[in-house]
Amino acid sequence: MRVEVLTIGSELLRGDVVDLNGAWLGRRLRATGIDVGRRVTVPDDETQIRAAIDDALERAGAVICSGGLGPTTDDRTREAAAAAFGAALHSDEGVLDSIRARFAARGISMPDINRRQAQVPAGARVLPNRHGTAPGLLLEDARGLAVLLPGVPHEFERLVDEIVIPLLHERWAGRLPRIDRAVLRTTGISESQLMEAVHDLVAPAAPVQVGFLPHVAGVDVHLTAHQDAPALERAGAAFRTRLAPWVYAEGEVDLAGCVGLALLERGWMLAVAESCTGGLIGQQVTAVPGSSAWFVGGWITYADAAKVRDLGVDPETLAHDGAVSEGVARQMAASARRRAGVECALAVTGIAGPGGGTPDKPVGTVWIAVDVRGAVQAQHFRFPGGRLEVRERAAQAALRMLQRAMMSAEPTVTGGVAPGVDP
Ligand code: ATP
Ligand code: MG
Repeated sequence: MRVEVLTIGSELLRGDVVDLNGAWLGRRLRATGIDVGRRVTVPDDETQIRAAIDDALERAGAVICSGGLGPTTDDRTREAAAAAFGAALHSDEGVLDSIRARFAARGISMPDINRRQAQVPAGARVLPNRHGTAPGLLLEDARGLAVLLPGVPHEFERLVDEIVIPLLHERWAGRLPRIDRAVLRTTGISESQLMEAVHDLVAPAAPVQVGFLPHVAGVDVHLTAHQDAPALERAGAAFRTRLAPWVYAEGEVDLAGCVGLALLERGWMLAVAESCTGGLIGQQVTAVPGSSAWFVGGWITYADAAKVRDLGVDPETLAHDGAVSEGVARQMAASARRRAGVECALAVTGIAGPGGGTPDKPVGTVWIAVDVRGAVQAQHFRFPGGRLEVRERAAQAALRMLQRAMMSAEPTVTGGVAPGVDP
């Protein structure tokens, strides 16, 4: 079954806002067996929105629209959709009451302009929005159905999950293929090396489709099967075995979450000592809900003086080896672990660029050390990319080193391979 997606907003065309809703919806629908046949973006212009809705209905018979349901006069989706369905707009008392109640809950009275959001085309079904003021709307005629949703991404996503997908499944019951998917998340191997490592597994995996999705921090391998769970299981087993040295997680989990789980299982706590990542690792681990159960905190020791003062790094090592060196990384990790009084510590020191590189320590040179209960390992990396990428890759490599050190049964990490990117 096929739908079209219409994202509405002049800011999307200007490039001020990235169309997150269109991308997210494509992934979400695909996972439930619905194809997006076309995605169109139009400005907040009534004539263009109406024409786009008409066109989509003619081609696909179903269109999901995002945006333009706000209270201001430049939000035109309601009017455009009403025109496309030849329906008059009227004020809906129930919607008006629920908008008033939302404001009342925050202790303010509803501004008059929000009355616009209670305008509903005759015959439209109101899709209640518990996450914002504008409800979604469903319109239908002989050509098909149009769903109008607010543009705010978290409201859009929740309405899709709570209302739109169940509704489409009800309509198209029995006509949607079941999609089974496995996602193997890898890091520490570039996309082309990974392709080489599995090239002989791709053809035998059929009818399972194999896709590679590279990110800065690693490459995700997607295995997709249509109504064929056993084939997915077979392919999954083969890929899992082959990629074992690089797979840090399966499904929609990130590395910080996996590290947290491993720490939690062991009842261990983590401290960090960050230089070139400037708190990025701390940020990533604290983004995981409940991380206070396994993360104690740490130090951002950016200048040499801070490394000496806060972590007791030996000034002689700094003078002799430089701040980006194995010795300094090891001292930072060991000292962070001891001073925090915990089982594990991570330390990162490197040159993120764009300046600061030298012939023997070019930009991208990073030393990472992990201390797991007194056993310290250090490793040298050369990451490609600009400042942002080097920092992100360093944070990912550090968490992966810790994950592997905790599991420790696996072979040592291959040095210097950038996560997910060809050198
Ligand atoms: P609401 O009534 O809840 O404000 P709305 O339907 O009026 O929702 P818009 O005014 O179009 O939505 O957009 C609200 C916010 O959501 C804006 O910050 C806008 O930039 C953002 N937004 C809109 N569409 C998208 C999109 N496709 N992807 C990401 N952000 C979007
Ligand atoms: Mg808008």
